Amino acid sequence: MRTVYVNGDYLPENEAKVSVFDRGFLMSDGVYEVTSVLGGKLIDFEGHVKRLERSLSELDMRAPAAMDDLLTIHREMVSRNDITDGLIYLQVTRGNPGDRDFHYPPADTAPTLVLFTQSKPGFAASPLAQRGARVISVPDMRWGRRDIKTVQLLYPSMAKMMAQEAGVDDAWLVQEGKVTEGTSNNAYIVKNGRIITRALSQDILHGITRAAVLRFASEAQMEIEERSFTLDEAMQADEAFFTSASAFVMPVVEIDGTALGDGTPGPVATRLREVYIDESLKRAV
Ligand code: PMP
Repeated sequence: MRTVYVNGDYLPENEAKVSVFDRGFLMSDGVYEVTSVLGGKLIDFEGHVKRLERSLSELDMRAPAAMDDLLTIHREMVSRNDITDGLIYLQVTRGNPGDRDFHYPPADTAPTLVLFTQSKPGFAASPLAQRGARVISVPDMRWGRRDIKTVQLLYPSMAKMMAQEAGVDDAWLVQEGKVTEGTSNNAYIVKNGRIITRALSQDILHGITRAAVLRFASEAQMEIEERSFTLDEAMQADEAFFTSASAFVMPVVEIDGTALGDGTPGPVATRLREVYIDESLKRAV
């Protein structure tokens, strides 16, 4: 049985409790982070904590703990759950005001802080990364502040189900003819050696993996264009890929039934996956 963290306590998962009045439950009034663990160490941890601070501040939500304590709590979760490879999920909500009310509760209401682990031994050696992911496009029907990492994940869930029903691995979201991002990842295409990905704005989540991958790509003198691309452009690209803390760099080999290149993972995505995993492991805490 897993040990989970709730508001200062480490508990067996079947003893952990959150109120039915919690704003996270009633209003999706919560934000989250997912940090990957490789070899018992946290990948890109500082980036995840910085984004959490930004999400909290954009929503006028109180910080649930000193940010330094979050590293200690994450490490404690890794060790208590004996995680070698896997994920640490963290969620902060605006807490329990004792009743249901649309207005934010008084500012001194204690936020709720929950963490749990997901063990995935050897998950960096992903069979999907060997084969390459197939995606479909679906309209992006999410709210307008996708730069805040909230727990309002119903539409991304619906899009994952559409992908599953279509027999593919994921969906890319399209707004005004342009790809915003994947259901739970940032989207890229490669054309004539140039890496093209949508620029940061309120339209997409500012991926921590995206930031690291673009940094490593530019250090390796690869050309990067931060701009929107159309679905047609994506289907005519040499290759494509997506990034996230749980998928790292994932080659995409098919979009809406059209194979990219020869239908196998491309050299740029494959190389970036290796570089990202190697370099992040060196910096892991
Ligand atoms: N976009 C969306 C919509 C996401 O849910 C995620 C993963 N949480 C990402 C991008 C990738 O972000 P990160 O690299 O920080 O995991």
